[in-house]
Amino acid sequence: MLANPIAVFAAPAEPLDESETSRLLFIREEEKLARDVYLTLAESYDTQIFDNISASEQNHMDAILKLLNRYGLADPALQGIGEFSVLEISDLYTSLIERGVISEAEAFLVGGYIEEFDILDLWHAMEETDEAQLDKVYANLCEGSYSHLVAFVGLYEKLSATDYEPQIMTDEEFERALEEASKLD
Ligand code: MN
Ligand code: MN
Repeated sequence: MLANPIAVFAAPAEPLDESETSRLLFIREEEKLARDVYLTLAESYDTQIFDNISASEQNHMDAILKLLNRYGLADPALQGIGEFSVLEISDLYTSLIERGVISEAEAFLVGGYIEEFDILDLWHAMEETDEAQLDKVYANLCEGSYSHLVAFVGLYEKLSATDYEPQIMTDEEFERALEEASKLD
């Protein structure tokens, strides 16, 4: 007989160190940035992609919220679309929307920018953490981002008949992301 069956299923989480904590909080905001930009751009264009991917970003936000709860961290995310508690993210939202409404091709580039940004941050987050729980969720989010990046790159190249150039990543990092994406199918 188990003396305390609850303890088996709800073992208290080990506290996170400072870099793991700040990265986790930042990624919650980053996933909200992605969701809110795609929700907003969905209103400007007929394409289905922004609706589809914003739903995926909502799942990513939910996954990070579960981790925040598990580790007893307060959720930094504000309720309103386009409202952020981190100034850097708030400024980024404004500039990405200004760019995204210029044209559909520009909106696909904005999607590519966000996915590059997310993937680079998730790579750092996975290097930093020794928590299996975090690593697993980050790896899942990263897989989502790889396929989002490939989708935006494809749509941009088709619409503009121009090669997509990585915007934040180095060429090497971009190749690595595409390679990881190709392993998903
Ligand atoms: Mn995401
Ligand atoms: Mn994404």
